[in-house]
Amino acid sequence: MREIFEKILGKENVFEKEPMKKHTTFKIGGVADWFLTPQNKTQLKELVLVLKEQNIPFFVLGNGSNLLVGDKGIRGVVICLGKQMDNIQISGSECYVESGAILSKVANAVQRAGLSGFEFASGIPGSIGGAVFMNAGAYEHEMKEIIKTVEYMDQNGEIFSISNEECDFGYRTSIFSKNDYIVLSAVFSLQEDSLEEIKNRMDDYTSRRTSKQPLEKPSAGSVFKRPVGHFAGALIEQSGLKGYQIGGAQVSEKHAGFIINTGNATAKDVLDLIEYIKKVVFENFGVMLETEVKMIGEF
Ligand SMILES: Cc1cc2nc3c(=O)[nH]c(=O)nc-3n(C[C@H](O)[C@H](O)[C@H](O)COP(=O)(O)OP(=O)(O)OC[C@H]3O[C@@H](n4cnc5c(N)ncnc54)[C@H](O)[C@@H]3O)c2cc1C
Repeated sequence: MREIFEKILGKENVFEKEPMKKHTTFKIGGVADWFLTPQNKTQLKELVLVLKEQNIPFFVLGNGSNLLVGDKGIRGVVICLGKQMDNIQISGSECYVESGAILSKVANAVQRAGLSGFEFASGIPGSIGGAVFMNAGAYEHEMKEIIKTVEYMDQNGEIFSISNEECDFGYRTSIFSKNDYIVLSAVFSLQEDSLEEIKNRMDDYTSRRTSKQPLEKPSAGSVFKRPVGHFAGALIEQSGLKGYQIGGAQVSEKHAGFIINTGNATAKDVLDLIEYIKKVVFENFGVMLETEVKMIGEF
């Protein structure tokens, strides 16, 4: 396949046996057979069509901040929509952003333009593509509130632009996650505000995050979705699991909803710890936790 991939993308954008631990915030994950970085929509489309024709499975990677990649890696292709597709354009109170842009970069750009609404997302370490796909949220806000339109590519390489209402956003889900659509870009609808007020809100969110979350250690953020009527972190803490460790994976002492990689955790360590937490929390509270982190590849 190398020849075909290089013809579409150029030699410099084709990587074979790429260690996924380099591309996940957990710093865990075996090798991907192929790791490809299309530079634009045209290349992406050509690639998707070839993969479909050859029956090769592919996975779209953003910033790798919500993933647990298996120790045996990923068969097929990882398509990385990263900083090669991270254009940001602000016009009036709207902001067009390509999917590879990192949320903090977008938050800073709109703050400098005196636009409010994006502050809640400034500390989420994802890309626009991942955040739209997941309908990422924090501090009682979510992507759904600020998105005007989203441009995506379906599995046949066709490109569409849809309105917020058509995105079918729910708690950490969207039409994109339900159909494996590739998010290409989004337009955000924001409000004018003073630069200082926006900055203050961003600083407030940052200090709340730094004091409550183990940002100094590799993780994938909150491992579990918020169960109805509860907080996963509180249930785990009340089960006495703070600091509980399997191999190199540990329930964070700072925030029980996070699992941290203490240095040499394998995906299996994390998976075993997740199963153990689910079992103990269910025994104690009758609540079955559901993972928010996506498990990808072979374990
Ligand atoms: C320290 C820390 C704090 C966090 N805090 C929060 C928080 O407050 N709120 C929150 O919601 N999340 C939080 N997260 C989780 C994570 O940052 C979000 O889920 C984020 O939206 C994932 O974006 P990503 O680009 O890293 O996606 P990835 O992890 O790369 O991928 C996640 C999913 O999105 C898909 N995807 C990525 N890009 C695209 C694309 N362009 N098109 C289609 N599918 C795509 C992937 O296929 C995968 O299924 C946190 C994570 C960490 C490590």
